[in-house]
Amino acid sequence: MTATFVDIRQARTSLAVQSGQTILDAALAAGIPYPHGCRSGRCGSCKSRLIEGEVNLLPHSRFALTDQEKAGGLILACRALPQTDAAVAWLGSDDEEVQPPRRLDGRVTYLGDLTHDIKLVRITPEDGAPLLFAAGQYAQVGFQGVPARSYSMANRSGDDGLEFHIRRVPGGLTSEQVHGTLKFGDRVTLEFPLGSSSLRQHHAGPILCIAGGSGLAPIQSIVETALALGMKQPIHVYFGARSERDLYLVEHFQALGRQHPNLAFVPVLSAAQSARYRSGFVTQAVAEDLSDLDGWKAYVAGPPPMVDAAMAMALALGLRQEDLHADVFFTPEELPTPVAVA
Ligand SMILES: Cc1cc2nc3c(=O)[nH]c(=O)nc-3n(C[C@H](O)[C@H](O)[C@H](O)COP(=O)(O)OP(=O)(O)OC[C@H]3O[C@@H](n4cnc5c(N)ncnc54)[C@H](O)[C@@H]3O)c2cc1C
Repeated sequence: MTATFVDIRQARTSLAVQSGQTILDAALAAGIPYPHGCRSGRCGSCKSRLIEGEVNLLPHSRFALTDQEKAGGLILACRALPQTDAAVAWLGSDDEEVQPPRRLDGRVTYLGDLTHDIKLVRITPEDGAPLLFAAGQYAQVGFQGVPARSYSMANRSGDDGLEFHIRRVPGGLTSEQVHGTLKFGDRVTLEFPLGSSSLRQHHAGPILCIAGGSGLAPIQSIVETALALGMKQPIHVYFGARSERDLYLVEHFQALGRQHPNLAFVPVLSAAQSARYRSGFVTQAVAEDLSDLDGWKAYVAGPPPMVDAAMAMALALGLRQEDLHADVFFTPEELPTPVAVA
């Protein structure tokens, strides 16, 4: 296997990137805290400047990287396969503090049902060190005997455990095991914290959060952290689910809304009529309620079709691209024809 060398400016490191490996994968494997989110070309968190060299870009969303940005020398590190030795710099315009990722061993200390197909799993590390992360980040969680997968923290930084909402994907190797045989006391490995789709604490404008299914996990962490920090701007949370049995934490968020008048929580059911909740796609509900998102921050988490639709809707309503932070809950897989960028 041949390798190219990529100079990552902020890390002051020249990295060997194997043929077929993306710059982001090589950087993360080397322990470099490269900003990233979805790792599948959808969110734009790993947008970088190509300073020297040539890369092929795997397919990506046009919302994550426009043709104009590409022509201007920008790439997505998660989609970039170097074709020559190269140099890149991530854009990283936000000045939030980043915790370097580390590996931890832990045990399952709580396991309970949130819905018929989403479990709350609490993992407590064995070394007892404080668990610091930015709200909205995720961990690579290794349960025994199945591949490690990404799960977003649902609780707040500084707690002595990490809480995850894990939805059962039918036929899924890891999530089926979590729902089938995982039990209290089981050993777990964690690589943590990861991802850049996290709460921007210095933003003073209104906040829009859109969650689909277990995408409520990072949104819970973001909202509870914002409220605990005393952020007073309007925070609108839209929670999309198929039917009432797929909703969870509704009373919890409603109670938070009574304590914090700046918080509005709106469940929306896509496949059922209900006397209590709104019906339709969550993106339609947002577009009905809000007309201009210029100056807002948006945090979006959930399955790919919902995230793609939410990003398109938010940008059409005037949200600035740099104010959009998305987490796509999917195992990156599709890798058709790459496109050359020099
Ligand atoms: C940054 C990030 C954060 C994430 N956070 C969470 C979280 O907080 N909670 C959570 O439940 N999941 C989350 N996920 C998704 C999670 O990492 C796994 O992809 C998911 O649990 C399925 O893994 P599996 O091993 O069970 O399925 P696999 O064995 O990987 O997949 C089995 C089949 O299901 C398909 N598939 C995989 N994932 C999904 C999906 N999400 N929806 C529909 N089909 C799918 C695959 O393409 C494959 O065909 C996150 C993913 C990312 C990238």
